[in-house]
Amino acid sequence: MQAKIFGAGPSGSMLALALAQAGWGVTLCDPLTADQLRERSRAYALTHSSRRLLQSLDLWTSLLSHLAPFKTLRLEDHEINRHTWFEISDLSIANQAHQAVGWIVDHRPLMELLLERLESFPSVIFQLGGESDQPHQSHDLLIASDGPGSPTRNEWGIKVWKHPYRQGCLTVKVLLRGADPFVAHELFRAEGPLAVLPMGGEQFQVVWSAPFWRCQERAALPTATFLDRLAAVLPSGLEPDALVDSPAAFPLELSLAQRLQHGRGLLVGESGHRCHPVGGQGLNLCWRDVSALLTVVERLKERRGRMTLEKLPRCYARQRWLDLVLVGLATDLIVRLYSNRNLLLKSLRLPLMALIDNQRWFRRLLLASMTDGPTRLFGSLSE
Ligand SMILES: Cc1cc2nc3c(=O)[nH]c(=O)nc-3n(C[C@H](O)[C@H](O)[C@H](O)COP(=O)(O)OP(=O)(O)OC[C@H]3O[C@@H](n4cnc5c(N)ncnc54)[C@H](O)[C@@H]3O)c2cc1C
Repeated sequence: MQAKIFGAGPSGSMLALALAQAGWGVTLCDPLTADQLRERSRAYALTHSSRRLLQSLDLWTSLLSHLAPFKTLRLEDHEINRHTWFEISDLSIANQAHQAVGWIVDHRPLMELLLERLESFPSVIFQLGGESDQPHQSHDLLIASDGPGSPTRNEWGIKVWKHPYRQGCLTVKVLLRGADPFVAHELFRAEGPLAVLPMGGEQFQVVWSAPFWRCQERAALPTATFLDRLAAVLPSGLEPDALVDSPAAFPLELSLAQRLQHGRGLLVGESGHRCHPVGGQGLNLCWRDVSALLTVVERLKERRGRMTLEKLPRCYARQRWLDLVLVGLATDLIVRLYSNRNLLLKSLRLPLMALIDNQRWFRRLLLASMTDGPTRLFGSLSE
């Protein structure tokens, strides 16, 4: 079997590796060079669904030294002055064995590992840094993994439901004093959620949501002024010392392609969907696309359930829609509920925070849907 993948970001490269390991020939193309693909300055929060995929592709052990685990997730509602904690003991038994609520990984070592592994497969052809040739009749599958603007998706005429947020997001790596390197923070503020994610030692990734114009304004501030503004909003006890990279602001949207499949073509990663970064679902959701496609590919290989190549794209699309819709709606609901000072909503948030704080079953339910995905909820809880 032969696949052509448009886009070698973290979704396209991961999928290329998964297919190569499953015995497929893969052509991976991207207008960026390998160096440019490695270069982005950002860090991703990984959940247990991503950990399982990395393990199944034999990447986990090699990546471990680059992962910063967090053992506690501290949730704070700044407007009502309440906070609560998610701990390892709130995970399912199977997940508890890995001694982390989640992990933070930097883009560079992740892409270095993916590209290095891909290079070891003679069945993988790279078309990086330039024009790719046209898809060939010999390609059994065409995969658009070319990001939110997806030229391939547009060429296939697939429309997208979009809801642009007024909020944008500012990401920056900082050195923080007084911060526990095993605690991740999600702070709900009226202007938008603020996440502080440990990257090892004193280094943290800050994901700061606010009206987009304000993110742009903050990104352009001189370093000292920016650090002062950041110090004013960080959870108490955390002091920013220095910036590790430059703040970058980008707009946010909730989007979902109206179809994930087009003949022998399909959408994987942000070409098919995007959601608000609250809860750190973005890349994990993209990699659950890869896991789902891998499951269908295995069914095809073993000829289980009368799977054929013609049915494969539709079967993949059917498997993915529920997870994508539920995560999109949940992140949207969280943003609407918490990004405001509305008295009625604030009065709803008080009992909700008390419920999370006092009821272990509720904490477990929330954490399981965040880390394993909502569609695996019953499996996770029954463990
Ligand atoms: C500015 C910015 C900062 C971010 N920061 C964070 C962060 O700090 N933490 C976090 O978790 N998430 C962050 N995100 C989101 C995160 O980057 C995405 O979730 C993730 O990159 C999705 O991966 P992907 O492979 O689906 O898409 P992308 O990473 O967008 O990859 C798409 C690839 O397709 C290529 N491409 C484009 N056109 C074509 C074409 N015609 N043919 C072939 N290839 C093509 C592109 O060059 C690119 O390499 C950020 C996003 C942005 C835009």
